[in-house]
Amino acid sequence: MRIINPNLENKLKKFGSDTAHICFNCGTCAAICPLFETSFPRKFMRYIQIGAEDKIMDEKLELFKCLHCGLCTSSCPKGADPGEVMLGLKRFVLDKLRRNQDV
Ligand code: SF4
Ligand code: SF4
Repeated sequence: MRIINPNLENKLKKFGSDTAHICFNCGTCAAICPLFETSFPRKFMRYIQIGAEDKIMDEKLELFKCLHCGLCTSSCPKGADPGEVMLGLKRFVLDKLRRNQDV
């Protein structure tokens, strides 16, 4: 059973991720991201919005492919910062693993 965490975006703020709520899921970032085989990073922005913490943990290895090139952030029409959100998610995942909450 999937568990939804309605407080996920607040929880992520301390890891440097605080613009996911701005995203309107247009897909521009996914179109420009060189990791084009998935809807990355758009889908992670959506996972945050809907509190899908389990999905983030299931697909966490994709986060570590991010090149931090900044193309997504510079092309976002809403002024969200998906590149920084991906970095924040990495910090969140590593912290969660370190605390042995997911292993
Ligand atoms: S470009 Fe911006 S608004 Fe569009 S999906 Fe990506 S983060 Fe969301
Ligand atoms: S910063 Fe990461 S998510 Fe954004 S376009 Fe570059 S590789 Fe893709």
